[in-house]
Amino acid sequence: MNAVVRKVIIIGSGPAGFTAALYAARANLKPLVFAGIKWGGQLMLTTDVENYPGFVEGILGPKLMENFRHQAERFGAEILAEDVTAVDFKSRPFSVSAGAKTYKSQAVIIATGAETNWLGLPNEQKLIGRGVSSCAPCDAWFFKDKKVVVVGGGDSAMEEALTLTKFASEVSVIHRRDEFRASKIMIDRAKKNGKISFILNSVVVDVLGKDKVSGVKIENVGDNSEKELAIDGMFVAIGHSPLTKIFEGEMALDKKGYVVKKPLLGEGSARYNMMTSVEGVFVAGDVHDYHYRQAVTAAGFGCMAAMEAEKWLEAQE
Ligand code: NAP
Repeated sequence: MNAVVRKVIIIGSGPAGFTAALYAARANLKPLVFAGIKWGGQLMLTTDVENYPGFVEGILGPKLMENFRHQAERFGAEILAEDVTAVDFKSRPFSVSAGAKTYKSQAVIIATGAETNWLGLPNEQKLIGRGVSSCAPCDAWFFKDKKVVVVGGGDSAMEEALTLTKFASEVSVIHRRDEFRASKIMIDRAKKNGKISFILNSVVVDVLGKDKVSGVKIENVGDNSEKELAIDGMFVAIGHSPLTKIFEGEMALDKKGYVVKKPLLGEGSARYNMMTSVEGVFVAGDVHDYHYRQAVTAAGFGCMAAMEAEKWLEAQE
């Protein structure tokens, strides 16, 4: 028996996935959303979200994602709490498999997001949202006149440190080498800022505090000496990993694994925005955008991907 061919399957359930689902549902495309076993994306790991427009007093991350989900469901999006285990984009209709079951669809929107890379310390995980963060634009406000550290030596670490100086009294950047991966302009900006200091050749080996962060233990990688630093917050900026393992070999990914969006103009250009290297497969959110990584930008990309998919589907008929 031939499987039912869907118009659109959406893989992912963060702000990008659910916004794509909302728009696709309202366009009567009856989207099927693979939300994953752990649905909701990175906002499920945060507490107060104060930079999502429309919520004057802020909103809890999990509550915001519940709202996203209910709004998409209200217009008929079908949501499955299953992880996609394989895709086949080599022929149309596309195949999307979750375990033993395979679904077919004319169009697919990829919105699987990216994961923050954490240091992997036990107390770090326990104190996320209680002084441990990976998003200065989201959480810097909570560290007014407080001392914080940023871990990392790339552009993100410099950007996080600079953002934090708007609120925090002192910002120490802890980096494992004495050379930075960040661009010169970002390093210069950070060095010129009087609130920022650097602790180099050092790694954080423990996060101190029971209910909230009270300090970090740092080891100098040269002489293995350890010291404790009393601080109120630790921002981890050691990179992100896009969730694209299942797409390897099926579409163009960049060297870090992010989905590559086809340019709208120029050589090899796409007629539809948010289209990937595979005609009919669209992308939205942090899985392709390593620059902004905000809930509101991800939601915007989700809207764009759904509108473009709708336009593309119409042109196929
Ligand atoms: P990144 O460039 O990969 O830098 C990650 C940093 O974290 C590196 O300094 C690395 O150290 C360190 N690190 C990695 N794993 C670690 C660990 N387990 N413990 C301690 N330190 C660790 O990542 P990113 O800074 O997030 O930047 C990602 C991309 O976005 C880059 O292309 C960047 O240019 C871009 N970006 C641009 C801007 C901007 O232009 N304003 C802002 C943000 C990001 P090592 O150097 O020793 O490897």
